[in-house]
Amino acid sequence: MFTLPKLLYSYADLEPYIDARTMEIHYSKHHQTYVDKLNLALKDHDELSKKTVEELLISLESIPKEIQTAVRNNGGGHYNHSFFWKVMKPKGGGESNGILSPIIDKELGGFINFHDKFTSEALNRFGSGWTWLSLDENKHLKIHSTANQDSPLLEGLKPILALDLWEHAYYLHYQNRRADYIKSWWHVVNWEQVEQNYLDATR
Ligand code: MN
Repeated sequence: MFTLPKLLYSYADLEPYIDARTMEIHYSKHHQTYVDKLNLALKDHDELSKKTVEELLISLESIPKEIQTAVRNNGGGHYNHSFFWKVMKPKGGGESNGILSPIIDKELGGFINFHDKFTSEALNRFGSGWTWLSLDENKHLKIHSTANQDSPLLEGLKPILALDLWEHAYYLHYQNRRADYIKSWWHVVNWEQVEQNYLDATR
């Protein structure tokens, strides 16, 4: 059985950038629903239930057709949200200034260029989805988006930073102002975790 991961901060800790009510509903309702639906999809598939959600997504093609879409959407939702909570923290933000910094300089033309390109990608993501910084098959940084709850793992990419662009992530506080949400979100990015994700992905 899959379960909600423990949140490493309180609902109100990301204020004023992300409000407590949004965090509470997003984590305890939306994320919980993905977990519940993933468990429901796998209830008659004991072997698959023993796998990690990463393993399920990486080998999605080998999953029985009748539950593939449910695993893609709800396994993706579970994986993406578990990942998202960790790349945020109270008093986060600023710039990466560890191991990732020279790589962002070299591959993405510096932090400001990276910031602007990622923001632009997020603004242009039409409808519900996510914007990511991932590592491609050559271990190079790639800014990209996915639709719905599709995970970069489905495309053979390894995510290191994620931004949720579903309206449920910001609508209560920001309503239609996605640009303001994105601008605020940069203040809570957990760069230590992003750098750890980079190290894990390059290992
Ligand atoms: Mn979400």
